[in-house]
Amino acid sequence: MNLKLAGFAGDSIVDGPGIRFTTFCQGCPHHCPGCHNPETWPFEGGFEVTAEELLAHVKRNPLVRGVTFSGGEPFAQAAAHAETARLLKAAGYEVASYTGYTFEQLLAEGDPDRMALLESLDILVDGPFIQDQCSLTLRFRGSANQRILNVPKSLAAREAVWETRERWVGGEY
Ligand code: SF4
Repeated sequence: MNLKLAGFAGDSIVDGPGIRFTTFCQGCPHHCPGCHNPETWPFEGGFEVTAEELLAHVKRNPLVRGVTFSGGEPFAQAAAHAETARLLKAAGYEVASYTGYTFEQLLAEGDPDRMALLESLDILVDGPFIQDQCSLTLRFRGSANQRILNVPKSLAAREAVWETRERWVGGEY
């Protein structure tokens, strides 16, 4: 199953700790006012890549240790992102994803493909972008309502558990 992307960045430093490979998927249902990537909203357009092709792109930069799925809405293409995340993790990369849904919404919905994506992630930055809560001092988050969650711990507890590692949540810039 192919990923449908609007683009990717091979050397991002704003979507997680260290140098990361970030994908921007095509299509988002949330339409948050003030969104920085409105060109990713339409589900039409973009280009397609397989998980294997994406892994090959990631491997081109030996400094990359982690991959972040960004928006658009990665959970709108949950099966393809889950397959990609499994491949990336098997190759030794830490995998994070943004989503406009909350962890609680995803858990309550229980969609098998979305649960499979959650089960393939290390980190989830959840919740919509809320302009009134926007701050440029938040690390890896656009607005204060968004949370940086440790996904394995959150799934085990069946409730949102914040990531505690310093490199993810080491305070404000
Ligand atoms: S979820 Fe992300 S990509 Fe989608 S509208 Fe909100 S800020 Fe933009």
